[in-house]
Amino acid sequence: MSSPCDLAPSNIHAIAPYQPGKPITELAREMGLAPESIIKLASNENPLGVSPKAYEAMQDALQDIARYPDGNSFALRDCVCRKFAVNPGQLVFGNGSNDILELAARAFLAPGTEAVYSQHAFAVYALVTQATGAQGVVVPARDFGHDLPAMLAAITDKTRVVFIANPNNPTGTLLGKAELRDFLSKVPSSVLVVLDEAYDEYLSAEYKSEAIGWLAEFDNLLISRTLSKAYGLAGLRVGFGLASTAIADLMNRVRQPFNVNSVAQAAAVAALEDEAFVERSRALNQAGMVQITRGLEQLGLSYIPSYGNFVSFKVSEAGAVYQKLLQNGVIVRPVAAYEMPDYLRVSIGLFEENARFLQVLGEILNKG
Ligand SMILES: *Cc1c(COP(=O)(O)O)cnc(C)c1O
Repeated sequence: MSSPCDLAPSNIHAIAPYQPGKPITELAREMGLAPESIIKLASNENPLGVSPKAYEAMQDALQDIARYPDGNSFALRDCVCRKFAVNPGQLVFGNGSNDILELAARAFLAPGTEAVYSQHAFAVYALVTQATGAQGVVVPARDFGHDLPAMLAAITDKTRVVFIANPNNPTGTLLGKAELRDFLSKVPSSVLVVLDEAYDEYLSAEYKSEAIGWLAEFDNLLISRTLSKAYGLAGLRVGFGLASTAIADLMNRVRQPFNVNSVAQAAAVAALEDEAFVERSRALNQAGMVQITRGLEQLGLSYIPSYGNFVSFKVSEAGAVYQKLLQNGVIVRPVAAYEMPDYLRVSIGLFEENARFLQVLGEILNKG
């Protein structure tokens, strides 16, 4: 007897499921630990939580939860247009920015076409590519970062999409603006470049992306932003894409009509307007990054300098160290699936969380 699974397309069978950070509740069940005693530094979440203004907006929005959301995200669209000086037609909203990545893949990829992305790049690029039946072309990284000349050389007449994460997760590497702009000017205009800027809010002024300003020049550019990181709304799922109206239009055709829920829309508006909260988050991250990288140095560990709210460090027997950290109630992220078996990624937390991570890690390493 055959099953529907036998007949599912081979590209679906070939997908390696995404491995999320372990939830606090799951570790609490597995280890019999109190949830309050666990610290999670595994999913690049905002340790400050969410803006109180966004929280209030969510409470208000709950009153109308029996109604369908606005399928066009009117208020949120208006807010993003004002904040980033773009036209309403240039925007696509998503159930998290992962949704934006998937909409791009669904709108532009099909069997027989190719998508180019870097080794060690965010895992979702491979997932959304494979789901369409297109071929993923992985370009070897250079010093853990994107090798743009090699990515350019990997573009063929089958290439429809190039994915770039800037900064990249899990390596934290950042491409220079001139380099990136030069790349865009050389990519054929028929190839969509998806620039995933999930961590842009964490960059200091000198490094902040100017790509939104490049949209006028490059009709084949899609910029992806998220409310999951510095804006502290990971659980609510909101992201958006900025592109030419033609690209946004195609993506909107494959979008589910109500993909961004009403509570998320309301919270996103309040979060985008609370610039002081984002600035506090950025400043906390900057201090925490210094704290953690100094601590790693003191433990004799090397790390990949990171521009995000996380850092990947090298440690022998990373899998065993990950398990021992778990036993001590500290959740970090293994990155073996990113071809980085000797590394673990830790998200920057509150001062006390960072201190506890370093202390527990030190104890594990000294016991050998
Ligand atoms: C965390 C992350 C995202 C955000 O995903 P959401 O679906 O918006 O939560 C996107 N891209 C990269 C590279 C990330 O690390």
